[in-house]
Amino acid sequence: MKTWEENIRMVVPYTPGEQPNQPDMIKLNTNENPYPPAPGVEEILHNMPVDKLRLYPDPTAGDLVRAVASYYQLDENQVFVGVGSDDVLAMCFLTFFNGKKPILFPDITYSFYDVWADLFRIPYERPVLDENFHIRKEDYFRENGGVIFPNPNAPTGVEMPLADIEEIIRRNQDSIVIVDEAYVDFGASSALPLIDKYDNLLVVQTFSKSRSMAGMRIGFACANPVLIKYLNDVKYSFNSYTMDRTAIAAGVAAMEDVEYFRETCRKIIETREWTKEELRKLGFSFEDSKSNFIFASHETCPAEELFQALRKKHIYVRYFPKGRTHNHLRITIGTREEMEAFVAFLEKYLNHR
Ligand SMILES: *Cc1c(COP(=O)(O)O)cnc(C)c1O
Repeated sequence: MKTWEENIRMVVPYTPGEQPNQPDMIKLNTNENPYPPAPGVEEILHNMPVDKLRLYPDPTAGDLVRAVASYYQLDENQVFVGVGSDDVLAMCFLTFFNGKKPILFPDITYSFYDVWADLFRIPYERPVLDENFHIRKEDYFRENGGVIFPNPNAPTGVEMPLADIEEIIRRNQDSIVIVDEAYVDFGASSALPLIDKYDNLLVVQTFSKSRSMAGMRIGFACANPVLIKYLNDVKYSFNSYTMDRTAIAAGVAAMEDVEYFRETCRKIIETREWTKEELRKLGFSFEDSKSNFIFASHETCPAEELFQALRKKHIYVRYFPKGRTHNHLRITIGTREEMEAFVAFLEKYLNHR
């Protein structure tokens, strides 16, 4: 080992889901939205004044902050925006998880949390989900340096009742509690109304799933103005211009089209419920999902075998081979047509095995 290697910040990076590119593929592996962004987004992109790209964007991303604040009826100083919620969450880890006590997040959850904790050298502990993959709230009633969990959780899709979330927040008033609501728009209850009541709560959401904008990279955090100020202080110490002009304008257009957003979410929820029924008939079991994916295992066919068989047909789902998730597949909800093709393949495959 070279001496200079001692000075390198060595990390094991997060592994994003595959981005295959076959013309005939059915892509159900990274929880993207099967529908396009709101029509206003296309209009913005068509009419982008290219000459303006000479100029730095608004470092506060004010238009986007105002659009988010207005939709959720918050004050501007209660909203922080970033380059996808991954950027927002990374900034949150850096800003709020800065103590000596371990932060807490579930053993089965979004696999970026331990990567950021390692990157920023934050100690952490991972309370174990119960045998049905539910978070046990009591595990978070102990001393810690911060708490973070998604609601609904990923990759399980399980929602924690808002009363339990509130209890976790209330019992942790000496640390920051972050609720990562990447999937909340698909039928779960948001903790957003609690930010006025608890000064230790941050709610993080994204445009990537429910607003069909994964390719644009927009996420946001809502909290009381003090937390938002600390978050901005760290952001401006790192990169002032996180949001580019295009993302700001497109984000505003997506946020403003409330009707399109609601209709898209409604269609996905409807298709999810149909898919649940079909999967049950085929011998799959799963906890009830309130997200845009289903985390399922089959009674006889191993997940890995199904994963490979689907892959051969260019139907992509996500498989987490390590630990307790090794016999589950995470299936993103696509369009009704995509899910019909997916179910038809499974039916044929499982009957001829
Ligand atoms: C998808 C996802 C994110 C990050 O999404 P961005 O595309 O970075 O906004 C964050 N948390 C969870 C739990 C997710 O599933």
